[in-house]
Amino acid sequence: MSESPHPRIRVHELADHPTLAERVLFWTLQPTLLGAVLVAWIAAPDSPLLYPLTLLGVHLFLGTLEYVIPARPAWHQPLTEKLGLIVIAAISLTVGGTASELYNTLLAEPLTSWRTAMNLEVWPHHWPLIVQVFLVFFASEFIWYWMHRAQHRCPPVWRVSGHGAHHSFKKLNAINFGANHPVELFWIVFPAVFVDLVFGVGAAAYGALLLTTTQTAIVHSNLRLNAKGIGWLMTTNAWHIRHHSANLEESNTNYGCAAILWDRVFGTFANTGVIEAGIGPRETTALEKLLIPIREPEGSVIAPSR
Ligand SMILES: [Zn+2]
Repeated sequence: MSESPHPRIRVHELADHPTLAERVLFWTLQPTLLGAVLVAWIAAPDSPLLYPLTLLGVHLFLGTLEYVIPARPAWHQPLTEKLGLIVIAAISLTVGGTASELYNTLLAEPLTSWRTAMNLEVWPHHWPLIVQVFLVFFASEFIWYWMHRAQHRCPPVWRVSGHGAHHSFKKLNAINFGANHPVELFWIVFPAVFVDLVFGVGAAAYGALLLTTTQTAIVHSNLRLNAKGIGWLMTTNAWHIRHHSANLEESNTNYGCAAILWDRVFGTFANTGVIEAGIGPRETTALEKLLIPIREPEGSVIAPSR
């Protein structure tokens, strides 16, 4: 039988005849990058500069590697395309910051009063900070898992959240972590803010934010990365690229964008390569992406129908 002209890409496997550098990056990139970000946070846990510096460093590093050793050369983003995505990501981050401030303004007082009234001071502040970071991380991802699953299973939620815009890109690179419809940022930032306010987390919330931000960049990256071991709990790019598949059944898996743990617990984890990403056979226009909360683009096959 002849080979398919569009083979399934499996980014969690090394290419034929890899160089030593490709092998080292394949095995170490994800844990090393996550570890480096957490070490930087431990060294300067309150520094407001850490977030922008992490964003800049992570994306310069991953973006450079995507140009040099892309897993899928067809997903190369020319400079003009990359600049457009950087602008979209900057808008997303700005809206996300505003949404986060709004939630804090509206919810901080009632949730704090409720916690006190219910005597729910259960957060383990005496535990090592790094353990608390992972506790916030997995708790936030638990909420996000169900919100994201609702986006893909419930047509009105898919529509109002504008989630289709994030899926509408045919090529995935690390910068796609921020390629969302602006309205979706009100969804994306909610879980972490909610966990922080309900439990009165404090210092560890910032570490968890850095961990999640770095993870979401890695899981969209167009690089070959190992998924053994780390892929039991953390989402890898192989798992997340499958979620971006242009096949409806395949896209309804792997809802955890930073942690894959909850997909394993609730039976939505799947592990096969994908042939193509997107919401259909073609790249949607910028206007179609913007109008997604109002109108599904023609040819879209990923939107839930019932
Ligand atoms: Zn999705």
